Amino acid sequence: MIPEKEQNELKASLTHLKQEAIRLGATDSAVIFSGDIRVDDYLAAFCNGEYTCPNYGLAASCPPHVQGPEQFRKWQGKSRYSITVKIELPSSVMFSYGREDVMRLLHQVVVGVEKKAIEFGFSQSQAFAGGSCKQLFCEENKTCCVVADRLPCRHMDEARPSMSGFGIDVTQMMNTSGWPVVATKQNKGGPEDSSWVAGLVLVA
Ligand code: SF4
Repeated sequence: MIPEKEQNELKASLTHLKQEAIRLGATDSAVIFSGDIRVDDYLAAFCNGEYTCPNYGLAASCPPHVQGPEQFRKWQGKSRYSITVKIELPSSVMFSYGREDVMRLLHQVVVGVEKKAIEFGFSQSQAFAGGSCKQLFCEENKTCCVVADRLPCRHMDEARPSMSGFGIDVTQMMNTSGWPVVATKQNKGGPEDSSWVAGLVLVA
C-alpha cells in the first residue's frame, strides 16, 4: 500500500508527464497500467515474417538488434504506470512523405516525456515510438553506426526503438488508453479522414 502523500505525488507527476506530451506536440496522452500492455511474440515476428519489413536489421532499434518481447516483459514487470501518446493526422498526410515529419515528431515527444520522467526520479523510464529510426534520422548515412561500428547512436536525443520489434499490441494499447481504434478502421482514406501514430513511455 503506497502512503497517501506518495500516491498524490505520483499522480501529480503522471499528470505532468501527460501535459508534457501535449506541450511537445501530441494530440492526446493517457496514463495506463503498464501491466495492461499486451505483448505478443507473433507480432514481433511480423518484422521478418512472410513479408519482411524493408527496414529489418538496418538499425540498432529494430529486430534482430532489439531484445524483443521477452525483454519488454521484464521491463514491464518493473513499471507500474505508462504514458501513452497519440498524434492524429489527416489520412492524406499519413500516406504521403509528410508522414515522416510526423513520425519524427512522435519520437521527439516520447523522448521528451522520457527525459521528464527521469527528471522526476523515474530513472529507468524508457520510451518507444514507431517507424524505423534509420529511415527517419539516418537516411543520409549508409549504415547505422551502432550496428556497423559499435558507436553511440547519432540521434540519442531524438530516436527511440519501434514498438513493433517488441511485439507491443498497439491497437490494444490505444483502446486501453481510451482511444478506440474502431473509428479509424471505418476510414476510407478520403481527404477528411484522420489517422494516428502512437508511442509509449514505460515509467520506472
Ligand atoms: S544511429 Fe541512426 S539508425 Fe542507428 S540507432 Fe541511431 S538513429 Fe537509428
